[in-house]
Amino acid sequence: MEYDPYTVALHGDDHFTELPDVAPALRPSTTFEYEEGGRTYLRMSHETTERLEAVLGALEGGDAVAYPSGMAAVAAVLRHVRPRRIALPDDVYHGVSAFVSSEAERGSWTVTTADELQAGDVWWIETPSNPKCLITDLEATAVDALSRGVITVADATFATPVLQDTLGAGVDFVIHATTKFIAGHSDAMGGVAAVRDGDLAAQLRGSRTTDGAIPGTLESWLTLRGIRTLPLRVARQSETARQVAAFLSNTTSRVWYPGLESHPGYEVAQRQMARSGVPMFGGVLSFEVDSPERAAAVVERLRVFTNATSLGGVESLAEHRLRVDPAAPPGLIRLSVGLESPDALIEDLEQALLR
Ligand code: PLP
Repeated sequence: MEYDPYTVALHGDDHFTELPDVAPALRPSTTFEYEEGGRTYLRMSHETTERLEAVLGALEGGDAVAYPSGMAAVAAVLRHVRPRRIALPDDVYHGVSAFVSSEAERGSWTVTTADELQAGDVWWIETPSNPKCLITDLEATAVDALSRGVITVADATFATPVLQDTLGAGVDFVIHATTKFIAGHSDAMGGVAAVRDGDLAAQLRGSRTTDGAIPGTLESWLTLRGIRTLPLRVARQSETARQVAAFLSNTTSRVWYPGLESHPGYEVAQRQMARSGVPMFGGVLSFEVDSPERAAAVVERLRVFTNATSLGGVESLAEHRLRVDPAAPPGLIRLSVGLESPDALIEDLEQALLR
């Protein structure tokens, strides 16, 4: 059977059904009465997070370890690997570059270029990247890294496991901010790191216990609830984003969306973002207007898109990226396309851009 995220998102945790409830029970207890082989304390493990990890692992094709935020997953993986050098891509989520540089200032590692990496170092990948949706060829990077003993970590938050088989491409660690598409409703923060090797996942879980970095019950429950509809949402958001990108490319000079033939990553994305058979390019895109003042005014004028940071939720968001990301082009507006009708979103952009 081919990759079937629709069924896996609903049944990847079926083996947990101790109770007759069809929906997972919400059980907030932090401690459990001692019993042989039973759970003891929430910081070590609890059922809702285990269920979430079962679904995430099945979707990803690996063993998934959940964290309370995307950045907590980033920090946990880098802390586990303890590289001497790290190479970051040119376009990368600003929180990751801030974390990597502040740790470099404290002597934890050196930031360098991919060519300089040696055995045990980390090659950080983010594909599609935030905010320009640049595409890295995962297979080619993994082959190059493997030949030098370099460890690859890929942030696939924009792609989700539904569109892209990141571990299958040979990458060592995949991470997602589940806060975004995976939870999908802008109401639950979380992160996940997934690997192919169960022993490595067990080591990550061990450190997570000592670090106290397990997600709370409610967040795991909300994420699990959101994940049931992930494949549906991602398919619709990708199709709407494609229509929005096509509209914008007739109206503005520079649009960053890997589903547009004009995008530098289009060819690779066609192959790499087709996990379920059909290429889909995700629900995030960016475009540039000619000045930061105009970008700020455009996002203010939008009525259907909310002027807010974050992405991947059911409601569409627009952000003048310079507000939070000093490396973003000054006139760049990032859009996260939700589940509204494509016509409503395009009309909204039209009225905001025409004035
Ligand atoms: N990775 C990417 C690509 C992101 O866009 C974000 C947040 O925007 C993160 C990681 C961090 O996730 P969180 O905010 O859940 O810590």
